[in-house]
Amino acid sequence: MLFIDSHCHLHDARIYKDIPNIVSRAKKAGVQYMVSCATMEENFDQTAGLASAFGAVIPCFGIHPWFLDTLSENWQQVLETFLADPGSGIGETGLDFMDKRADQDLQTRVFYHHLNLARELERPINIHIRKAWDTFIHLLKKTGP
Ligand SMILES: [Zn+2]
Repeated sequence: MLFIDSHCHLHDARIYKDIPNIVSRAKKAGVQYMVSCATMEENFDQTAGLASAFGAVIPCFGIHPWFLDTLSENWQQVLETFLADPGSGIGETGLDFMDKRADQDLQTRVFYHHLNLARELERPINIHIRKAWDTFIHLLKKTGP
């Protein structure tokens, strides 16, 4: 039986140096592909590099709701540049309203942009949702299938 790890973060500094061994062990365990999700512009390059170096790594590019304080002025352009790779997906992105101080409007705008890109580019999207199901369903109805 073959498996796909549908959500991992291989760019994580805690494991980054060990990636060749991680990919090798995963392959031996039957994991054919690993979907590695970037979480902010800062780790887009690393994620793209991992996908170039290892055929088993499928890159996803997105801004995680926890890291919106890292958004550059032209983050949409940066995101679209990385999504020019037709083998890439979108994410990790989403809504996290667990922390009541979170900027829910900004999260909603950023996530809605990702959703529209997924639809336009016909790409899979990795979504993180906590305590934001109503807003999520509303946005899904707005973007359509
Ligand atoms: Zn994640």
